[in-house]
Amino acid sequence: MADTKSGRDEQARDEARRRIERDISEARERGDEPEPVADPPTECHRRGCSEPAAFSVTERYQEETGAGAVEATAFLCADHAADESPANLEDAYEGYVFHVEPVADDADD
Ligand SMILES: [Zn+2]
Repeated sequence: MADTKSGRDEQARDEARRRIERDISEARERGDEPEPVADPPTECHRRGCSEPAAFSVTERYQEETGAGAVEATAFLCADHAADESPANLEDAYEGYVFHVEPVADDADD
């Protein structure tokens, strides 16, 4: 008896897990659920620069292979963020994005 019940519970858990996984992958396919991002880097992305990352610079453009939109994000110090400019305008499309966002600095709170 106990076996039957725990077996059912397990099955319900499996189904719930599968449903969640499906929701996540569907959301990713729709593009409204960003990939889970590990802790953002705290140092500037540029080689040889150890300034703290102050901005995230994101560019979204159409992959030239036709595989779809790709989004590239780099965390940069203020100086290097100021140097950034759209690099893939030839692959621009209606959803093209280039944006610079200040990185929240929790350390000072
Ligand atoms: Zn830098």
